[in-house]
Amino acid sequence: MKCPYCGGLETRVLDSRQTEDGYVVRRRRACDSCGRRFTTYETAEVSMMMVVKKDGRREAFDRTKVKNGIVRACEKRPVSMDQIDQVVNSIEQSVYSSGEKEVTSGFVGELVMNALRDLDQVAYIRFASVYHEFADVEKFAEEIDKLRQNSKEEHLDSGDAPRTVRIAIDGPSGAGKSTIAKKVASRLGFDYIDTGAMYRAVGYKMRKEGISPDDSKAVHALLEHTEIDFRNGRVFLDGEDISDRIRTPEISKAASECAEIPEVRTKLVEIQQEIGRSKNAVMDGRDIATRVFPDAQYKFFLTASPEERASRRYREQKEKGLDCNYEEVLRDVRERDYRDMHRKTDPLRKAKDAVEIDSTNLSEEETVGAILSRIHIQKEK
Ligand code: C5P
Repeated sequence: MKCPYCGGLETRVLDSRQTEDGYVVRRRRACDSCGRRFTTYETAEVSMMMVVKKDGRREAFDRTKVKNGIVRACEKRPVSMDQIDQVVNSIEQSVYSSGEKEVTSGFVGELVMNALRDLDQVAYIRFASVYHEFADVEKFAEEIDKLRQNSKEEHLDSGDAPRTVRIAIDGPSGAGKSTIAKKVASRLGFDYIDTGAMYRAVGYKMRKEGISPDDSKAVHALLEHTEIDFRNGRVFLDGEDISDRIRTPEISKAASECAEIPEVRTKLVEIQQEIGRSKNAVMDGRDIATRVFPDAQYKFFLTASPEERASRRYREQKEKGLDCNYEEVLRDVRERDYRDMHRKTDPLRKAKDAVEIDSTNLSEEETVGAILSRIHIQKEK
């Protein structure tokens, strides 16, 4: 490689190191003509990822643009270029592992915001003000209040872990996600967040109020006045414990229908990000690794054959004393799979960097073990 200072053709590699995440090789070189030193970075070339902008235009994902935005936000802050490079690497990795061919600019913006929140709070506010186009000083005050609140909760909750750890478990219905996620969370002392229960709660409310998924005005109004809460493993809808009412086949169907409505997804994803931001959490669902927390440290895709999943659901329903037939349950499982995998917004798919676990022939304990064996939580000294 030519020397960038004198154009000399003879340069030597003095040192070659991988970045911490292993995706980039950094080389220190010296020029034989002028003796100056410089650094080069080597990354893999992967197929082009497109970014869809707010006005619908598409352009190729460009890590330099992401880096420039972060460098601007970090100006005169105690953040090194190495730290910035690490953040850009992890954002790039999340974008490419989303499993999509194109992502929205909002998705990339959220990744940057998440990373800056952990890196430097002043840089975060600067970036947020430009990204969200803060119109007045009130918006700054609001964002700072949220940041203060989150740092307070993080401080109280973090215990031994300095940074919040997120474990995403996605997969089709009946793969055993909630049972496994609950056990993994309890072994690690993490919170368990059942995102499916949120879609069930909204589906339940829409059905109760007779709202059709096509009536976007009514859906909007319903979302404005809906509160979903988790307390002691129970789900509360507008203050009422609905945990036992949302596990029926009708509500499963209503949940998967309402999960196709983009506005419902936007609202629930926001709530999930808010909950998961400040605590160590195991979160299960369909889009946790691809949409809610693409930067989760651990990602799993838990699956099993449709027949095995239907048998599990069938046994569960029978144990609850509900009348059902295996063929119908299998048909429901297949229908929900189809709907979850083919909806336009955030369909169910395995993130590229998720570990797939097929639990068809595994016991619960074996599945929990397969997940725990891949998790290494570092304790602060
Ligand atoms: O996981 P569970 O079966 O309780 O989820 C109910 C429904 O909610 C799913 O069939 C799916 O359509 C939807 N869902 C989703 N995204 C999630 C969690 C659930 O679309 N993160």
